[in-house]
Amino acid sequence: MNEKDAATNRKGAPSRREARVFQGLENQGRKFSKAWKKTPSAFPSLGKPPAWSDATPAEWRDWRWQLRHRLRSPDDLARRFPAWRPSAADRRAAARYPMAVTPYYAALIRQPSDADPIFRLCVARAAELDDPIFCEADPFHEASHEEAPGLIRRYRDRALVLVTLQCATYCRHCTRKHRVGRDGAGEAVSPRRTAEWLAARPELREALISGGDPLTLDTSQLARWLEEIRRRAPNIEILRIGTRAPVVLPQRVDRELCALLRRYHPVWMNVHFNHPAELTAEAAAACERLADAGVPLGNQTVLLHGVNDDADTLEALFRGLIRMRVRPYYLFQCDPVRGVGHFRVSPAWGRALMRELRRRLSGLAIPAYVRDAPEAESKVPM
Ligand code: SF4
Repeated sequence: MNEKDAATNRKGAPSRREARVFQGLENQGRKFSKAWKKTPSAFPSLGKPPAWSDATPAEWRDWRWQLRHRLRSPDDLARRFPAWRPSAADRRAAARYPMAVTPYYAALIRQPSDADPIFRLCVARAAELDDPIFCEADPFHEASHEEAPGLIRRYRDRALVLVTLQCATYCRHCTRKHRVGRDGAGEAVSPRRTAEWLAARPELREALISGGDPLTLDTSQLARWLEEIRRRAPNIEILRIGTRAPVVLPQRVDRELCALLRRYHPVWMNVHFNHPAELTAEAAAACERLADAGVPLGNQTVLLHGVNDDADTLEALFRGLIRMRVRPYYLFQCDPVRGVGHFRVSPAWGRALMRELRRRLSGLAIPAYVRDAPEAESKVPM
């Protein structure tokens, strides 16, 4: 950065290089949230947007209020964004695959159309009903690896524990799209029985607490899961929580939660940011609270057509993440899941993006580009 750029940044404006990148993207017709057109050091605060003037500031900051007031259908969203009219097929997509969006996350939408990455990530669309022939509901055959309800074991030393199948916001590209958000879809039975199941398999060293999103549980419920596993399964060295809460519900990462996590270290966390528009001051503060509580943070991004399948967007995302003390961990090839085919990017393009990113970024900001495969013993490098 030259002296002039550095001086501009100290005043809080984008650097010349950043401005050129943003302008270039917009000239290509890509409209992105202004949320990421900011300085490298400060992330923009969303505040309480005018479309939610009916909420008090205290309600807006309350994660339970955010969960209670989620937008549950395309029509709910259209009431907040009157310029958009959902089609009958959009409504059918939402009936087939549940839709929910926290007000916080919906407020990151700058224009209600597929050109907006946040809209694309969270709003049910007709394209979900058009499945390429190779897409399956359960492409990794999780059902055949489910040794007990909600307890999935695909690798020798790790087990996946589905503690809930509810999420704050349902990602349209979710691998468990056929399962999340539905009643009776098979969560793990109870914290105690899960802990006993883990203890009975001494070769297991790591429990992946996942779902759904474990941070949609109350802190006291989550405490029971962590407590039982720590108390009864001494073979479990690492607790790893998979969550999207810092992205779609950063209010959830409160003092009480951080105090809880501190008690059960080593606790690691994988978060899931896909686009720089998600890097707000609220999200950065949530990640900072977690990092200060001693929780190492890794990020899993999915490579998604029309969201982040260009080098400038991924560069801005990965640079922002390391400023937020989050290590880019995996860039996933989008899974061949039914309802998700329209998000897939060719592996050749993914590899070309990685080559370009390696040229631009330090190793710290480069995730491993991988795919999941049904019978593989680990993630498969692309
Ligand atoms: S939060 Fe995770 S489990 Fe829930 S919809 Fe998103 S990707 Fe799927």
